[in-house]
Amino acid sequence: MEEEVGGEEYLFKVVLIGDSAVGKSNLLSRFARNEFDPNNKATIGVEFLTQELEIDGKMVKAQIWDTAGQERFRAVTSAYYRGAVGALIVYDISRKTTFESVKRWLDELTTHCETTVARMLVGNKCDLEDIRDVSVEDGKSLAEEEGLFFMETSALNATNVQTAFEMVYKAELSVNRVNLV
Ligand code: GDP
Repeated sequence: MEEEVGGEEYLFKVVLIGDSAVGKSNLLSRFARNEFDPNNKATIGVEFLTQELEIDGKMVKAQIWDTAGQERFRAVTSAYYRGAVGALIVYDISRKTTFESVKRWLDELTTHCETTVARMLVGNKCDLEDIRDVSVEDGKSLAEEEGLFFMETSALNATNVQTAFEMVYKAELSVNRVNLV
């Protein structure tokens, strides 16, 4: 007879995608509360970190992947997306071109992942209100059109960073599609 295990653990892979310099690495280091040192980052190469979190009484091992600059070379491949159950598609609210790229990133996600992957549209750098180039309404309506969660964040001043990641985990836990460790 198998022994009863006290408390379940979940492994949860989330990918960060979006154009260069929208703030993906800084969102990750902000989320990980200094457990990740951006100075150690490889110039080119995929990096991920794993963090233990408690969400709704369940232990979640969150494995978050960052492209570490590879998106510049369009070399983000299927290995990057493999097994992902959540994705944060990031743009910079002060650079419209990064918002216009979102559809391309969504297409790529659809090519490599199941359609059921939990997707959060993230308008980062919301501290840059003075030079805003994408309105909150435009972000919201794109999210509605594409069936995405939506949130504006600032990695700089920590606005909504925790919430954005946690919403993706909660969405996944509620349908129990994450893998038990
Ligand atoms: P990545 O290429 O998408 O990983 O972007 P990085 O995390 O390397 O950030 C690109 C640049 O944007 C850096 O100069 C960061 O300091 C800056 N940055 C990132 N997040 C924010 C933010 O929330 N607010 C502001 N004002 N700058 C940010």
